Amino acid sequence: MTKPTCGVNTSRFSKFSTALHLSGFFPALTLCLLFVGCDSLPRKSTAAQANDWPQYDDTDAASYISSCRQSYQRARDAFNALEKAEPSHPRDILTAINQLELLINEPLGRAGLFANVHPNESVRAAGDVCEQKFMALSSDINLSRPLYDRLMQVNLAELADMDRYYAQQTRQLFELAGVGLTEEQRIRVRELNAEIVKLGQAFLANMREDKRQVAMAPEDLIGLPADFIASHSADAQGKVVLSTDYPDYFPFLQYATNDSARRKMYVAFRQKGYPANKAVLQQLLAARHELANLLGYSNFADYITADKMIGSAAKAGDFIDQITVIAKPSADRDYAALLQRLRQIEPGATHVSDWQKTYLENLLRNEVYAVDPQEVRQYFSYAKVKAGIFALVEDLFGVQIVPWQTDVWHSSVETYEVREQGRLVGQFFLDMHPRAGKYQHAAQFGIRDGVKNMQTPVAALVCNFPGEDGGVDLLEHDQVETFLHEFGHLLHTLFGGDLPWLRFAGTNTQRDFVEAPSQMLEEWVWDLETLQTFATNSAGEVIPPELVRKMNQARHFGQGIFVRHQMYYAALSLSYYSQDPAKIDLDRVMIDLQNLYSPFPYVENTYLYASFGHLDGYSAMYYTYMWSKVIAADMFREFKRSGLRNRELANRYRHTILAPGASRPAAELVREFLGRPFNFDAFAEDMRNDVRP
Ligand SMILES: [Zn+2]
Repeated sequence: MTKPTCGVNTSRFSKFSTALHLSGFFPALTLCLLFVGCDSLPRKSTAAQANDWPQYDDTDAASYISSCRQSYQRARDAFNALEKAEPSHPRDILTAINQLELLINEPLGRAGLFANVHPNESVRAAGDVCEQKFMALSSDINLSRPLYDRLMQVNLAELADMDRYYAQQTRQLFELAGVGLTEEQRIRVRELNAEIVKLGQAFLANMREDKRQVAMAPEDLIGLPADFIASHSADAQGKVVLSTDYPDYFPFLQYATNDSARRKMYVAFRQKGYPANKAVLQQLLAARHELANLLGYSNFADYITADKMIGSAAKAGDFIDQITVIAKPSADRDYAALLQRLRQIEPGATHVSDWQKTYLENLLRNEVYAVDPQEVRQYFSYAKVKAGIFALVEDLFGVQIVPWQTDVWHSSVETYEVREQGRLVGQFFLDMHPRAGKYQHAAQFGIRDGVKNMQTPVAALVCNFPGEDGGVDLLEHDQVETFLHEFGHLLHTLFGGDLPWLRFAGTNTQRDFVEAPSQMLEEWVWDLETLQTFATNSAGEVIPPELVRKMNQARHFGQGIFVRHQMYYAALSLSYYSQDPAKIDLDRVMIDLQNLYSPFPYVENTYLYASFGHLDGYSAMYYTYMWSKVIAADMFREFKRSGLRNRELANRYRHTILAPGASRPAAELVREFLGRPFNFDAFAEDMRNDVRP
């Protein structure tokens, strides 16, 4: 089963990698174009920004639509003016493009956020429309011949290293967008980009709004925690109605003893978005394929990997197979253990099914490793976990997290600032609990990227943890891990927000590196010393060392299977985008790849692709999660050696990996941190070291 993986910044990354390829871009504020009389326009200081921060408590779509229109018009006018302007010096085009991107950055970030989290449905819809408009403008900018011609006149030899890299990256961004095509082709590229944004939004909306309910008999809840049962009472017909949203789905798959009830829940979950998204996905694949062809690539997978660390679709395929081989011995052992345990329940069982995996793993963790998740979760109340993560970050990086007074889009949203010796590093929102119509996964949404001396970063963590309305607020340990993972993206955004060019900001780093810092940070929730700083139960007792030791022993159990299953997802995403969509059979490819890569056979009437949101955002690049994990494992070795609470190393890590953002190729940053290029050794060793009794 999937772990709720995160996305960074759905709005920006997902679509930008398509329309703009180099991910980053955007916010607003400073209106100052070099060629149209810079000095006559107000240049806002960082200090002024706190008061200038747009309102986040819009309750009606009309005021939001009006503010989006104004921001859009301002950016569109600036772009039109820039296309016509006479440059004073060729290199000024770099600053001018940066200024233009600044006008787009914040309204676009806000649109993507509102589309996914705003409680008012009409504001969510307006967010989608606003996002489409800004994405279309971005597409126009990157296809602008006048801007590109001026970029090509810049003498690279004249520039300092970072500026030269910026100029090169900007040229590449325009080229990958299709600036070199004929006018007629560029018109088609614009149409396709707009269509891709709309199709992506429709794909996600179909997932978000497809609320499946499963009626269970009260006895089907046997095995679930008492607080879960207490909060899910039977209706007038004597049925307990559960939803396929995470807060119901994951506990049910993990704890419910009734196998057929779990199967029923699994099938309902795997039908989300179907059949509507089948047609949408087919159109999305077709649009991206045509775009890639126009841009000179034989398929979209080749196009989208061209500027990533991996370099090509073929190498991504090799990587998937390489990881599959590395994970096989561990996956085989895990699978044999699951099957053996299943046979105690169901004598003669010949194979383990996907809906049984989480349940059986949980049983074995409990029986073999004596780890009972219900015992574990009592130490992880949401409030204590949050305080613990804040304290960890403050301690490791020498910063302070303090309340931020600003308005919010929902009463449950909290707001904070990160300060360092009084200086504002950035600000963030925590929107951490589920509600109707809200994004259902866990992600960091960048709202405004930081730029040195111009604007500080602002981001939001959007999760779906229990604890809303003062209800039960105990997190599973893997939810604690997810919290810290998303916080890792936030740190990248905040610490990488002090570079001179907007597009260099933090998480705008190469897309297949962006998960590595977050994946590495997950390790801290397995560290006794760290856990003991915040994990206490309602009686105030600290989590026992013996329990943490057992959790660590049990940790790697299931890892091989997890990796194999992830490679199924990666192969699916790569395969869909490597083929001619006119000939593709979505179901056939899904079934074949599941049977090839996953240890669990395909289950009839399930349609993973219809709710696999990353097929939009990550397109062909789902491999990136594991690619980043390989690098994360390598980087984590440094901390293993020097200590997880080593501030000096944390500081060095911050300044070599996080702070440079996208200002250098990711492989270079990693090489500098490690003192050598990264390799697979640490990852392979972790896969081998899944010690079990
Ligand atoms: Zn992530």
